[in-house]
Amino acid sequence: MSTARTVMSDTVFSLQGKSVWVAGHRGMVGSALVRRLQSEECSVLTASREDADLVRQEEVEKWMTANRPQVVFLAAAKVGGIQANNSYPAQFLYENLMIEANIIHAAFRTGVEKLVFLGSTCIYPKLAPQPIPEEALMTGPLEPTNEWYAIAKIAGIKLCQAYRRQYGSDFIAAQPTNLYGPGDNYDLETSHVLPALLRKAHEAKISSAKTLTVWGSGNPLREFLHVDDLADAVVFLAKHYSGDSHINVGSGEEVSIRGLAEAICKVVGFDGALEFDASKPDGTPRKLSDVSKLQDLGWANARSLNEGLKQTYAEFAAGGPLPRSG
Ligand code: GDP
Repeated sequence: MSTARTVMSDTVFSLQGKSVWVAGHRGMVGSALVRRLQSEECSVLTASREDADLVRQEEVEKWMTANRPQVVFLAAAKVGGIQANNSYPAQFLYENLMIEANIIHAAFRTGVEKLVFLGSTCIYPKLAPQPIPEEALMTGPLEPTNEWYAIAKIAGIKLCQAYRRQYGSDFIAAQPTNLYGPGDNYDLETSHVLPALLRKAHEAKISSAKTLTVWGSGNPLREFLHVDDLADAVVFLAKHYSGDSHINVGSGEEVSIRGLAEAICKVVGFDGALEFDASKPDGTPRKLSDVSKLQDLGWANARSLNEGLKQTYAEFAAGGPLPRSG
């Protein structure tokens, strides 16, 4: 469970007795939200792909009209790391735009009381000021390797703002930083760096390899948040925030890719050498969110990266609920 420090903040919305749809409940963020919502007095709704293909407007409208959720957590998205974004631009742009537009519009039409849209820090310009404040949105060119996903996510934030402005809908957006934890993608071709390095270190240890290959220079700086802490922050925002601006959700701490690789090797118990593959892209040089708005509202992360890595590796090594290959 989360180790978040919670300061008193006015409740603006109650989840009690509400019917709450977690769109994307099979994903990493969606499943963390379903876990987190177990400790709220609400009933959680989920829709399988057979119930509603979220890319199809008619299916979304039909399902929402029949099921009438009062609250929606929009965690459904096509996601992937640097390589996947580069390889499948049409799918990343089209599928994400459709999912968001379909759900947000249907939420308006069916009178949803609160909707929380989940974005991503890749929405920010490549050379945004660091730590990145919410106001940096659309102030410069995006990182080209993930602009497809970013453009779709920016459109999702703008949809929430537009429906709030035009119709008074209480739709908000939260911007998670890089996440890790249960349900992560461990496929080396399409995963993000943390699960990829965890798996590589584990396999290197098992096979008594001498080296572990890290993509790029090892110099880029990234921030990581455990997905259960994200879910806690998102539920917190649903209850305590109602406003136009999206809100960054992160740990507020950064680590270099080299530093992350070293920390992972230590947790896993792999003591070989790191090799850096310069043929792979570095991506954005630095990505740290400014979490002062979230902290001012009363939520801050307290789980250290090391604690989170130990927990995640224990789950991975146990074979648990995590997919071990793609
Ligand atoms: P990003 O945060 O959107 O850039 O996406 P990633 O999590 O995929 O990559 C973050 C950084 O980690 C980039 O600089 C990658 O080159 C680097 N990296 C190092 N080793 C790996 C790896 O094995 N897989 C991935 N996905 N990234 C890696």
